[in-house]
Amino acid sequence: MHSIYLKTKIHSGIGSLRVLSQYKNQKIFIVCDGFLLKNGGVNPLLEAIDSTCEVKIFHEVVPDPPLDTVAKALAQFQRFAPQVMVALGGGSAIDTAKGVLYFSRQMPGNVPVKLIAVPTTSGTGSEVTSVTVLTDTHSKRKHMVVDESIMPDEAILDARLVLSVPPQITANTGMDVLTHALEAYVATGSNPFSDAMAEKAVEFVRSSLFTCYSKGGNLQARGQMHEASTFAGIAFDKAGLGLSHSLAHQLGGVFHIPHGLANALVLKDVVLHNSKNPTVRSKYATLARHTGISSVSKNEEEAVLDLVRCIEDFKFRMKMPGTVRDCGISRREYNEAMPILAINTLKDWCMSSNPTRTEPEDVVKLLNSIY
Ligand code: NAD
Repeated sequence: MHSIYLKTKIHSGIGSLRVLSQYKNQKIFIVCDGFLLKNGGVNPLLEAIDSTCEVKIFHEVVPDPPLDTVAKALAQFQRFAPQVMVALGGGSAIDTAKGVLYFSRQMPGNVPVKLIAVPTTSGTGSEVTSVTVLTDTHSKRKHMVVDESIMPDEAILDARLVLSVPPQITANTGMDVLTHALEAYVATGSNPFSDAMAEKAVEFVRSSLFTCYSKGGNLQARGQMHEASTFAGIAFDKAGLGLSHSLAHQLGGVFHIPHGLANALVLKDVVLHNSKNPTVRSKYATLARHTGISSVSKNEEEAVLDLVRCIEDFKFRMKMPGTVRDCGISRREYNEAMPILAINTLKDWCMSSNPTRTEPEDVVKLLNSIY
């Protein structure tokens, strides 16, 4: 039996921000980062909100949102006491808002607040997931809080908001989408519903990611990648993730390597590692064939190699760093961190749905191979 819970009402398409105008006489708390406030990225949102609403903006979101930032936002949120919270930004803004919602719900006398997610990157899928990833800056660990109550009530996918994403962030976030889809497809919780979403996400990544990178103003490609991100988010929310994310969380927590780039660094090696399990190999081959990455005339091993080539080809064409060393991390620094990276990878929540048995020595081997 598969029980699939889809809470979020998704509005997708150019101009979909206008659905915000349905809220009248409400207090609306906006969560975004300083960049979107300064470059005017928040203006289309403010224009869409009805003039009868009272608005307060928290604009101190930072990448890999630390718990301290969530605490700061929570204090302002409680003073303002809104009925609606709108998270505008990449995964970091949406996760900060989810953190605020999560902790506010633990407090006595809390009243329900609607969460509306408006992604401005096409990557995390956080607009449709029950997950927030928060960083403990003291232990340098990224923690996942998983709770259905923080799944956004609404998600607004307006591709005009991603036109300003620069090529390198387009590449990183696009590889995050691909990683979500690939991990969800083989995760222990995968099912026909999540598989369908993951396949569609990979199809759109193949047709549109490079165009978004090389011709950022192409609204049609941006629209496809924006939807691909949401499809992949739904897929992994229902199926789980795996070893790529467990490693990426450590690389992000310790070295602040952007999340999508960290996934891109490890994805090929994780696919090869997980393919040692014949069931997983067969499933990767199916994905590769269904999405046109490989063909039915090829055997499973060849189809997996086509999938690996596809990953590497994207990284090459989008001029992404190929190794941890390319990200400016010294060998000494990396070696010093290695034991803790390995231990915390195995403790990471995403490992619980990785389909292939993984020993500490496998993780150390992977960490060495990506340097
Ligand atoms: P991000 O939110 O950290 O943003 C990256 C950069 O892009 C920031 O500097 C931001 O200012 C900039 N940016 C955002 N929108 C822009 C725009 N329209 N134009 C120009 N610049 C823009 O990056 P992200 O990859 O979207 O999110 C990463 C975070 O999400 C990580 O903390 C990761 O762990 C988390 N995550 C969460 C989930 C989930 O389900 N909750 C899933 C995957 C990842």
